[in-house]
Amino acid sequence: MSRLWVVVVLTSLLVTTASPIVTAQIGQPDIVQEHWYHSYATLTLDLNEWADDYPEIVILFSIGQTELGREIWMLQISDWSQEKKPDGTDKEVAYIDGGHHGNEHLGTELAFLTAEYYIEGWGDGLQEVIDILQTTELHILIMLNADGNDFDTRWNINQVDLNRNYDHYWNTCDSTQPGSSAFSESETLANSIYMNEVVSDADLYVTMHTGVWIMLYPWGKWPEQPSDWELFHHIRDDVNDNISEIPIRNANQGLYPNCGTSRDYGYGVMGFPTFTFETDDEQFLLGTVEALSDRLGEELDVMRYLVQNIWYWRARLVVTSFEITDNGIVADVSNLGHASTSNATFHYSDSSGNLLWHSENFGVNATNQSEITIGIKNLSLVGDGIWTVHYQKRVIDSSTWVEELIDESIIMINSSGKGLLPAPSLFIYFLSIITAAISRKNLSID
Ligand SMILES: [Zn+2]
Repeated sequence: MSRLWVVVVLTSLLVTTASPIVTAQIGQPDIVQEHWYHSYATLTLDLNEWADDYPEIVILFSIGQTELGREIWMLQISDWSQEKKPDGTDKEVAYIDGGHHGNEHLGTELAFLTAEYYIEGWGDGLQEVIDILQTTELHILIMLNADGNDFDTRWNINQVDLNRNYDHYWNTCDSTQPGSSAFSESETLANSIYMNEVVSDADLYVTMHTGVWIMLYPWGKWPEQPSDWELFHHIRDDVNDNISEIPIRNANQGLYPNCGTSRDYGYGVMGFPTFTFETDDEQFLLGTVEALSDRLGEELDVMRYLVQNIWYWRARLVVTSFEITDNGIVADVSNLGHASTSNATFHYSDSSGNLLWHSENFGVNATNQSEITIGIKNLSLVGDGIWTVHYQKRVIDSSTWVEELIDESIIMINSSGKGLLPAPSLFIYFLSIITAAISRKNLSID
């Protein structure tokens, strides 16, 4: 009798352990999670639990395997019931990764806490989170170096420093263990493929580490300020004035020269506004009473600020007046974003989108308004031409190009036709001048 009972208990224990549902519930309970770092196993359970509990906002999948075959998990977090923003434009894209260095647990947990804030905030009905997930896609890779994490070591299993293995001036500084070539490691290769194929249009990239309490912007390779220094300095001043006194510096000067990092790659090759977010290294808090979310509360506030204001982390040109005169195009161009742009042009296309003419380059500074006067050599107007402004989101060469319509209602043609090439539809053009003249006359009679 008692023997049978033992068998029943043992059997039920075995069934319990093998059941995926019960296993998922074990995960990493909040009380443990707040006082312990994730291993690859507990992270895998927690991520799956999020995907199960919040299918409307969480997409979880693997972007590849580590050198030892562990999955490299990617979370895509947004309100997936809407592909675009409520106003019909594309959502902003933020990219966040953690765990390049397997022994930097606090930085990895900051990536976890960032994901948790948005996922559980959605569950709690937090308005800030609902608004952000309707307008923004968050792509969060919490643990890149799962092998190193399991061994509590900086390196991956091939003893490579993954954050020196990126294809941006790879192995051109004094650095140890950068690998046999750029992207020689499966972890960095998978990360770079994701950057190029899925989030190439991101307006924020934050890579999380542990070391000195600091945020670093490019470059690690050079002591000079990056071409988008205005954007980085604006963020630095805003964070320091309003959120946290965390030092925010150029990486080369703020820490030490380094090459082949994901930060320099993210900015120099991908054109993202990029930060390395370093938590402090007092990370031996295992079993202490302070909860991790309190411990990293200030850092999370900085992340919330960076995500909430992502719309501003690029140039946002708005043409407010546009007049074609005998002397050329005279236009007022505002920049609502906090990044400058230096290679903008006006494009003139036919209704099928074929480019007929483009202006010379002009620049617009961050958060500024510029009056642009630009030549119209070789321009000939057609009946149904379309004016657009074509520019890069930031100054850095690698940043994305955008082409945006100029509001038709502000386009004025105030020219005798001198300087314009004759075109078959010139009749329409002169007609518009005559119409304009008549309406002016009418106005003067009133
Ligand atoms: Zn690190």
